[in-house]
Amino acid sequence: MQIDRTLKKVSGLGAIQGQELGFGNVFSDHMLVREWVNGEWGQPMITPRAPIPVEPSALGIHYGQSVFEGLKAYRGSQDQTLRLFRPDRNAARLEASSTRLCIPTLSTEEFIECICQLVAADAEWVPREREHALYVRPMVFASEGHLAVRPASRYQLVITTAPVAPYFSSRSRALRLKAESRFTRAAPGGTGSAKTSGNYAPTLRPMAAAAEEGFDQILWLDAQEHAFAEEAGQMNIFFRIGDEVVTPELSGTILPGVTRESVLTLLEDWGIKASTRRISMTELLEASDDGSLLEIFGAGTAAVIASVASISHLGHEITAAPVSGDSLGGRLREALLGIQYGEIADPHNWVRLVS
Ligand SMILES: *Cc1c(COP(=O)(O)O)cnc(C)c1O
Repeated sequence: MQIDRTLKKVSGLGAIQGQELGFGNVFSDHMLVREWVNGEWGQPMITPRAPIPVEPSALGIHYGQSVFEGLKAYRGSQDQTLRLFRPDRNAARLEASSTRLCIPTLSTEEFIECICQLVAADAEWVPREREHALYVRPMVFASEGHLAVRPASRYQLVITTAPVAPYFSSRSRALRLKAESRFTRAAPGGTGSAKTSGNYAPTLRPMAAAAEEGFDQILWLDAQEHAFAEEAGQMNIFFRIGDEVVTPELSGTILPGVTRESVLTLLEDWGIKASTRRISMTELLEASDDGSLLEIFGAGTAAVIASVASISHLGHEITAAPVSGDSLGGRLREALLGIQYGEIADPHNWVRLVS
């Protein structure tokens, strides 16, 4: 696939020195755009990052026919080589999300090629510090202007990148979650398993309320009974109960995280029993009370593994017993980072080099 390139004459990298990267405060020099029109994808173009003209009646903005992805490019600790982590899984998920939203799909190889070339164009933007990375945000939205609620005839793929600092630093304290008993994120038959724009704005108000009550994140519960744990904000949730690790099964209301899948594979590699099943708040409360709830952690590309201290549910506190020695969450975090930064073996061929 031929990708047109118009590169910036002077990089903006010099201008951001000393600026707080945070997570999305700063964007790199280039973006990739590609249009879908007349039933096919046109040629991708890498251009200087700039605002894109949007048709005011674009179906993507009005009705939310839009999907996105999130992955990172890492700079090897020793070899400085740029790596992507399982981009084929992001490609597969983008395809599944697109299919759910009647959006045209891209082949896995084209998706990866677009990202590799864009990251290569902004290679200098991939941070040198460990746990920092270049976040890659592909998105596809319906760009045709119309009023009817129907699939659009034009779409735009836009890929932008942003150098980011750790989402939560390894030194930050464990999170406090509020189990949300009123609002829901996803219902059976809905779009919970798709990374689609419409799933996120409805979480803003419950998240703001939780933050006002002093919580860091929400633990979403099932929509029907508000009785089962589903997801922690934009992370998948794991519980270590006794000698077993459990995470909710992919039932259609849970986002199939690449980190989640990788954690399950690592646990299997290590001979640790891991199950995917429904987990009730009653079970968690009992495990908390009898001391068998040993760890709670969230998993996602942005945060890698984020330790959770407690979950507040209808006036009850679910807390993980303080771990002595190394936590499993910490071990998983180090294994994932080790593979991503090229420090340890990659037995499952998860890494794709940017070349
Ligand atoms: C993206 C996302 C995740 C994490 O997925 P990863 O592929 O591990 O980054 C989990 N939950 C939600 C709701 C998400 O949007």
